Amino acid sequence: MGIEEPWYIRSIETKNDEVHVYVAVRDGEKLPCPECGKLRKRAGYENKERVWRHGDCVFFSRSVYCRRPRVDCCGKHGTKVHLLTKVAREKERVSA
Ligand SMILES: [Zn+2]
Repeated sequence: MGIEEPWYIRSIETKNDEVHVYVAVRDGEKLPCPECGKLRKRAGYENKERVWRHGDCVFFSRSVYCRRPRVDCCGKHGTKVHLLTKVAREKERVSA
């Protein structure tokens, strides 16, 4: 799935032939600003939990859940939502 530090898999549940993957960010880690890439301190999380549906992996379909942390870029880029993976970042750029 291509998770990058400081993201980690918090738990995995299997229900009704679906795999539910819960991911989170390690406490106390700085996160890169999505605009300039500088490491900044975290500014809480967005309110809503997000779900990504991944293509079926062999027999199961997979859903990935997370609340994305916000990054405070010291007034420069303001408060941004940190994205899960490079793939998610590129997808959001394309669809934005
Ligand atoms: Zn920035």
